Amino acid sequence: MNITKTPEFSWSCSRSQTFNTCRRSYWYQYYGGHNGWLDNPDITAHTIYKYRNVTNFNLVVGQGIHEVMKKAVTFKDDDYSGQDVKKWLKDYLHEACIKGSNMAAWDSKPNRNPMLQEFLYWGGFKSDKSKKVIDYVNKKLDNFGEMFKNTTTYKEIKAGRMKELIEADENMNNDNKFGSEIFTYSNIHGKDRAIKIWAKVDLLYIRDDGKYVITDWKTEAKDVFVKEDSSDDSYFQLLVYAWYVFKKYHVLFKNMILRRENVVTGTTFESAAPSLAVVSKALQRIVSEVESMADYVVDGDVANNVSCSKESYGMVSDDGHCSQCEKCKFRALCFGLDSTVSSVENIA
Ligand code: SF4
Repeated sequence: MNITKTPEFSWSCSRSQTFNTCRRSYWYQYYGGHNGWLDNPDITAHTIYKYRNVTNFNLVVGQGIHEVMKKAVTFKDDDYSGQDVKKWLKDYLHEACIKGSNMAAWDSKPNRNPMLQEFLYWGGFKSDKSKKVIDYVNKKLDNFGEMFKNTTTYKEIKAGRMKELIEADENMNNDNKFGSEIFTYSNIHGKDRAIKIWAKVDLLYIRDDGKYVITDWKTEAKDVFVKEDSSDDSYFQLLVYAWYVFKKYHVLFKNMILRRENVVTGTTFESAAPSLAVVSKALQRIVSEVESMADYVVDGDVANNVSCSKESYGMVSDDGHCSQCEKCKFRALCFGLDSTVSSVENIA
């Protein structure tokens, strides 16, 4: 692995979300833990890197559900029943609990042994707070077990309408396993820059009518209303994927179907043929966010990407009593490991 003094700058939907949630958490996630994975790391970088590798039940279940969907639509383990699915996911969660409560393993190899927030912050798996989360994720598993075979994507593929599978969380041609980079260009702080954009599509396939179906799976317990406008975060994410498919596979927008499918509630939002104008607006939004991110980099130079001081990245709260801090994995770095989390209302 290359050792670099600073992290490489790039833009992605998750980076954007972190930046817009709390600047301090953005610094922890994208700067403070850089090189914290080396054999003899700087102790501060290693500590931050450890907290980067904190997860929670909700995220683990979301990852498990994505795995099941991927297997189901790529014809691996094709005959899953609802009961099989629930059992598989419960075993998956159980394994995450074993890993996610091993402090020594988390300390030595944080990326291979992500710590669970419920164990670290919420008084262990049997605490009232954790039990509430477990009830919540169990309901999700029950719903998913009932719903996944009713989703539009599953039904379409089982009806034989998939002509070619192109990506399923990874490129099926194996040219780049972990998502792909594309570029757009902008003048930032007086210099022309190539902005690297990371996109990882849950599922991309060519349908029997020649349309490229871009599917984003969601695992929220409740549905969100999606507005066909680049200012709507859900639609914006689909537009980023449309731009990615256009750049990488040279597919015209008129041949695309954008699909956001909640596999827990069984609802699908679908939109065909985004216009160039609306995709351009999404790109403008990316450029404007990159400009804001560059304000936190020395001389706005995202090519060198030396971050300004940690203190210049503001905290969303001074005392940790807000919904963002209560569910934040970096909470210990801001307020100490023993700081009290007062509610579990905002876990989703
Ligand atoms: S605990 Fe709060 S202030 Fe600290 S990084 Fe997380 S969200 Fe930001």
